[in-house]
Amino acid sequence: MKPSPLTTTRGGRVLLGTFWIGLYFLLTIGPLAIIFFGHTPPGRGFWIELSVALGFIGMAMITVQFVITARIGHINGPYGIDVIYRFHRQISILSITLILIHPIMLFVADPAQYLPLLRIWDAPLRAVLAWLGLLGLITIAATSIWRVKFGLSYETWRILHSILAVAVLAFALGHVLGVGHYLEQFWQRGMWIGMAAVVVLVSGYVRLVKPLLMQRKPWRVTNVKRECGRSWTVELEPDGHKGMRFQPGQFAWVTIGRSVWMIREHPFSFSSSAERSDRVAFTIKESGDFTNHIGKTKPGTVAYLDGPHGVFTIDRRPDVKGAVFIAGGIGVTPIMSMLRTLADRGDTRRFMLIFGCPTWDEVTFRDEWPELEKRLNLKVVIVLDDPPKDWEGETGKIDEALLKRHLPEDRAEFEHYICGPPAMMESVRDVLPTLGVPAERIEMEEFELA
Ligand SMILES: Cc1cc2nc3c(=O)[nH]c(=O)nc-3n(C[C@H](O)[C@H](O)[C@H](O)COP(=O)(O)OP(=O)(O)OC[C@H]3O[C@@H](n4cnc5c(N)ncnc54)[C@H](O)[C@@H]3O)c2cc1C
Repeated sequence: MKPSPLTTTRGGRVLLGTFWIGLYFLLTIGPLAIIFFGHTPPGRGFWIELSVALGFIGMAMITVQFVITARIGHINGPYGIDVIYRFHRQISILSITLILIHPIMLFVADPAQYLPLLRIWDAPLRAVLAWLGLLGLITIAATSIWRVKFGLSYETWRILHSILAVAVLAFALGHVLGVGHYLEQFWQRGMWIGMAAVVVLVSGYVRLVKPLLMQRKPWRVTNVKRECGRSWTVELEPDGHKGMRFQPGQFAWVTIGRSVWMIREHPFSFSSSAERSDRVAFTIKESGDFTNHIGKTKPGTVAYLDGPHGVFTIDRRPDVKGAVFIAGGIGVTPIMSMLRTLADRGDTRRFMLIFGCPTWDEVTFRDEWPELEKRLNLKVVIVLDDPPKDWEGETGKIDEALLKRHLPEDRAEFEHYICGPPAMMESVRDVLPTLGVPAERIEMEEFELA
């Protein structure tokens, strides 16, 4: 399928991005129309109405979260998936706060009527549903913030998160319909039921349609190669289909050696050239439950890819004079994909890679850098934390002084791509503008979504 200009051109992305923001406000503030245009129940003061309004907005925000995190290309495209996940986290905090304020305000405004609802054992069903929803929300927040402290693996947390989110929405909907204020008219009830129906459809797409589509396009592992830096390159070929077209720097959610229905997928950047959609590779560092065993994967193992995703790609900036890539550790993988692709395309623009690693033995792809320097107008600067005795190159951290020494004079016209450990990315992002790189010329890819 040909990619839409809405996701491939800058103007298209701005248009689409603005459209989604507008729609977001409409959907989250929209339920207030029920209050404005509905019949206000008699004898209720300002604070009770405000409390209901906050509850409505909070619930609408939670409903929209399901759509935001469904990995729909047209929604993620204008912003990038890391921005979407950050937004998801921040909006979750805001919506939980609004929903918590809702009962507190009721207790303060009319304690005689609302405080008895705290006695959950003889409270009406609509109040019990509200408390269950609130408990679910607090559990979601606590397990998301303190997942590691609670000893939850990422996969367990993800399954729990999905189940609780659906339960919270069901309880909240039951509560709203049970209370019944502002729901006399069909369109008022229809608005909430419609939003819940969208959640059911989106969940069906994510949990049923998408896995089915992926199952119809399996991949086979053809080779697993050890790389420097406790990493492995896993090569895949399509099994009975044409493969996957992607832009260099993008990533996919990868399932290897398991059923597509088990939700055991992990995001990895393509490290291979985007010029080959019929043979892709991921370079994976041992760093946890799944990745520690990746080196044992046997050729012939089945794999499934959900992708491509992401906006960290030089293909979105075809007009730039050149690019500076700044990588730390395994963050070099999307950059390797970009450089291999640029070399395959015979791109003659100027490129620079500044690559920080702890030691020489951890310089991933170290044998290929000299070859890429020959194929491209590329300068590679390796920076080692702990260099060998005879090392003559750069040492220490990628800091302001080092960047000043190496960045091209006309760097303001270069696109800068940063990927690596969070601390390194933040410090480089803060330093670049002081060296004359405009903020809009800085792109980052985060490997930590959760
Ligand atoms: C856009 C993107 C591209 C990435 N590209 C690469 C790459 O090219 N090479 C590479 O080695 N690593 C890459 N990563 C990181 C990689 O996804 C994690 O290291 C891997 O999922 C860890 O899984 P684990 O079970 O071994 O470790 P765990 O100990 O279970 O997890 C370690 C951390 O990895 C993250 N993580 C684990 N599972 C998932 C998941 N299913 N979805 C999202 N995050 C998860 C969580 O933040 C978790 O705290 C990328 C991550 C992202 C977000």
